[in-house]
Amino acid sequence: MPPAASPFPIIVAEGDATQRGVAHGQGARDRIAASLSFYSDAVAPSIGATFGQIVDGVLARRPMWRAQDPDILAEIEGIAEGSGFSVGEILALNTRGMFVVPPIDQGAQRVPDDGCTSFAVLPEASADGHLRTGQNWDYLEGIADTIVLVHLRPEDGPRQLMIAEAGQVGRHGVNTNGIALHANGLGARLRDPSALPTTFLRRRILRSDNITAAIEAAITPPRAGSTNFLLTHRDGFAIDLETVPDTVRWLLPTDGWLFHTNHFEAGIPAELAATYTPSADSLLRYARGTRRLASARAVGGISRADIVDVLTDHLGDGRGLCSHPDPGAPRHERWMTVATVITDLTEGVMSVSAGPPCEHDFVDIDIASGAVATAAGAAMA
Ligand SMILES: [Zn+2]
Repeated sequence: MPPAASPFPIIVAEGDATQRGVAHGQGARDRIAASLSFYSDAVAPSIGATFGQIVDGVLARRPMWRAQDPDILAEIEGIAEGSGFSVGEILALNTRGMFVVPPIDQGAQRVPDDGCTSFAVLPEASADGHLRTGQNWDYLEGIADTIVLVHLRPEDGPRQLMIAEAGQVGRHGVNTNGIALHANGLGARLRDPSALPTTFLRRRILRSDNITAAIEAAITPPRAGSTNFLLTHRDGFAIDLETVPDTVRWLLPTDGWLFHTNHFEAGIPAELAATYTPSADSLLRYARGTRRLASARAVGGISRADIVDVLTDHLGDGRGLCSHPDPGAPRHERWMTVATVITDLTEGVMSVSAGPPCEHDFVDIDIASGAVATAAGAAMA
């Protein structure tokens, strides 16, 4: 039987930064166009801005970002060249975390559910001894058709298999040196627009040669926003890093596993402590997931099926772990699980599913080759 098709286009991006960007831009042109339409037509008006104003704002910061990370900026410029869109438009896609959710002082009444659920299961907690990590990526329905897999093959350093919105230089994924990154938003109240956007930071983590460098990339300021980074290494290591622009708190595995949603677990930053309120669905997802994993751990270890069980849990009527869009909500507020990843670092395979994972099959992508893996474990070119 032929292998199942990947649920997302797989774009191979090799060479220097510009060449990688051009390949990404050419391969994802239609999806970048769809993404720009969504953000300019549905999201920008919801925050009282035009997309042109957003683009002007990010272009003003381009020289600063070039000084901080010329390689990433060159890749973004390559994406613009390859796709035919402007550098400002591609930069805006890479900084959407700064405008999708307006900060509290710009009129937002509450921090919306920037939802994602991440996990790591170390070999000692795993039913079959495999190290697995991954996440439900919960975000806006409007970008569901813009997701791509990018297989990055730089001239130096490890290859990286990344899942992202088309045109973005970083999101979550894994590299061939055994490092995986998963991430969760931690609310939008603390942000520093002059610092490095989270897509840049995520890429710095994904391109790291070793796990120490990956941790360093996550915890070294400046950071633009507040993000939880769950880092794992195939040799049996996991750490969770709750970062805000200036400080970091951390969690280590308990009983061999880690689980994280979208609220602070390691401690509430002092800047927020007086008024901090987590989102209801983050608390629900955390409670459901930790309880399920703890019970599986206690009887034979956590299997892949246990993980799928957690990620497809429906308590919460569409706003729980497996998130389904509310068709009555405006487009800029229609949240759902847009993709799910379960990476087996022991096997070197990333399993991906489109949309809510209760409705879609998982397809295995070989991390080293970036191709769909066959049932026999070999990759198809
Ligand atoms: Zn579902």
